[in-house]
Amino acid sequence: MTFRATVLTLYPEMFPGALGVSLAGRALEAGTWSLDAVQIRDFASDKHRTVDDTPAGGGAGMVMRADIVAKAVDAASPADDDRPRLLMSPRGKPLTQARVRDLAAGPGVVILCGRFEGVDQRVIDARGLEEVSIGDYILSGGEPAALVLLDAVVRLLPGVMGNEASGTEESFEGGLLEHPHYTRPQDFEGRAIPEVLLSGNHRKIAEWRRAQAEGLTMERRPDLASACLEPPPTKKRSGDA
Ligand code: SAH
Repeated sequence: MTFRATVLTLYPEMFPGALGVSLAGRALEAGTWSLDAVQIRDFASDKHRTVDDTPAGGGAGMVMRADIVAKAVDAASPADDDRPRLLMSPRGKPLTQARVRDLAAGPGVVILCGRFEGVDQRVIDARGLEEVSIGDYILSGGEPAALVLLDAVVRLLPGVMGNEASGTEESFEGGLLEHPHYTRPQDFEGRAIPEVLLSGNHRKIAEWRRAQAEGLTMERRPDLASACLEPPPTKKRSGDA
């Protein structure tokens, strides 16, 4: 079954972009997924093909018009389309590996890329667009965010990654950041590969990696660590039963 991605954008020439090469590119060619970049401007009705207007209430910048965006969404995704409709937006729920996995298990996605100050709220509400953020910073448009989301999803589609196991041992998959990696040469500018990794003792190696992952997560992402690591046992006070 082909995973169908439809991207609504003012810059269809940005697609497939980075997704046309390497794993995603090969999978696109093989038909594991499909990508349709729709020009929102084609749904404008005036001769200048205007898609934006000044913000109600005043202020800087321009806002994408609800009526034009709605026409584009409806053409790309009719009422019986069962694909989720996303709007890339810094106000959205932060994208997580769990959501990515969810999307990869579904039939595809419809992604609206914002530009200017954003999109008229009424079309977000009327078409049930789910706002998704890729992080707490502001991009100039939703296109790079859509490429990021699709990259994360496509690599999880069946058959895309050569080594299936590598998909489940990554950072976040077990709720932890991943352990560090090493490869040849054995000596790099006087730095050796940790002894245990050369020991051939698989149990010891697994333990070392787990400890590294926990240490790194605690140090760099205490928010993740508290969600998935056991809290240290609380000391019993004398007199407690
Ligand atoms: N005025 C808006 C920012 C608009 S940026 C605000 O302050 O919230 C223009 C477009 O870029 C947005 O409509 C959105 O589609 C996209 N965008 C910007 N930052 C993003 C982010 N962190 N995640 C996802 N999309 C983003």
